[in-house]
Amino acid sequence: MSRIVYLNGEYIPEEEAKVSIFDRGFVMGDAVYEVTCVLDGKLTDFEGHMARLARSLKELAITCDISRDEWLEIHRKLVAENGLELGGVYLQITRGNAGDRDFHYPPAGTPPTVVLYTQEQPHMLDGPKVEKGVKVISVPDLRWHRRDIKTVQLLWASMSKMAAEAAGKDDAWFVEDGFVTEGSSNNCYIVKGNTIITRPLSNDILHGITRASLFRMCAEHQIKIEERAFTIAEAQEADEAFYTSASAFVMPIVEVDGVALSGGKPGPVAKRLREIYIDEARKAAI
Ligand code: PMP
Repeated sequence: MSRIVYLNGEYIPEEEAKVSIFDRGFVMGDAVYEVTCVLDGKLTDFEGHMARLARSLKELAITCDISRDEWLEIHRKLVAENGLELGGVYLQITRGNAGDRDFHYPPAGTPPTVVLYTQEQPHMLDGPKVEKGVKVISVPDLRWHRRDIKTVQLLWASMSKMAAEAAGKDDAWFVEDGFVTEGSSNNCYIVKGNTIITRPLSNDILHGITRASLFRMCAEHQIKIEERAFTIAEAQEADEAFYTSASAFVMPIVEVDGVALSGGKPGPVAKRLREIYIDEARKAAI
């Protein structure tokens, strides 16, 4: 069934949504995006996603004058039009149509290209990954050094996921200068006793919205977080590991580079945090 998508102010069937071959997003990967999770037909962590979107746009000097209230209206309309209960809303803004291929930015006043669409994810709350946990391999972090900006330049993430799949595993962790930066599309954590260890925010990683919410919840539930980088060897000796992202919430990790963690089963801390996260996200959804 065809979705109704949003393109530059219009709500249209997906087959009719067309973008120029000169669009900067297509030619240069000059675009930012966000994915907001939808639970029970409602948006989770919406304010966080919109704040990060504004920051990504500012860092790249892309002008887009859609307000927070307008974003909310667009998201809600797409969710309603498509009857979405469980899944996400994908949002992408490019620097627009430059009229030709050119390294220089198009003139000021060139309108950005704005695209939003819904994606159903019927197994976001259950499924084999949640029950069995995921297995990860490590790969070098070959991305550029502004990973704090959520751009559509996702080729290395994509290649790493394919490498994980080829190795019979589920996902990849990026390693730089001997330390884990983050997962291919998530922030990652190890657990030692009652402490959660995760890399501090910097330009080296995406500032996960789920990560920020998890931090708030840990503070409320007296769970200690230590922000520091860790190595693969330390992860392999940890009690547990997990990752977070808007579409996976808190996902238990049961193997790192062939070494089983928490007896090869999802650990109790990851399981508890997943429950807390889903519960609170549901209550706060708008
Ligand atoms: N790091 C990377 C590289 C990601 O692609 C994502 C998912 N967009 C995350 C972290 C997690 O961010 P969030 O919790 O905002 O989905």
